[in-house]
Amino acid sequence: MAHHDENCIFCKIIAGQIPCAKVYENEHVLAFLDISQVTKGHTLVIPKTHRQDVFALTPDVAPHLFAAVPHIANAIQRAYQPVGLNILNNNGEAAGQTVFHFHMHLIPRYGEEDGFG
Ligand code: 5GP
Ligand code: ZN
Repeated sequence: MAHHDENCIFCKIIAGQIPCAKVYENEHVLAFLDISQVTKGHTLVIPKTHRQDVFALTPDVAPHLFAAVPHIANAIQRAYQPVGLNILNNNGEAAGQTVFHFHMHLIPRYGEEDGFG
């Protein structure tokens, strides 16, 4: 059974206890819009089993994350027509991590006018 941390906000999203705007889902991975959109379509990709950060990712979980990324990127591409996309991942407070359930940010880019970076 997938590991669930009852104090983790992303585990609550996986459990359906907190709503999210779903972008993609399979057995292992969930992707949903970030509540605070850096650019239009800013999406988070998470494993359905709780892992705090990249240091805690295990080989039973890690491959599913990147395997899902092209599907999610293409869903974003279809929905928002960005001209580029950044993939970012913060690990540890010192690196800017604020939610301690591993996640990748997929940030669509729209050219200079998107005001990001
Ligand atoms: P971090 O700074 O840990 O890399 O990113 C955490 C991200 O989670 C932030 O961009 C923040 O806006 C997002 N976030 C935090 N709480 C929620 C939530 O309840 N729902 C959604 N959709 N995003 C959240
Ligand atoms: Zn969690």
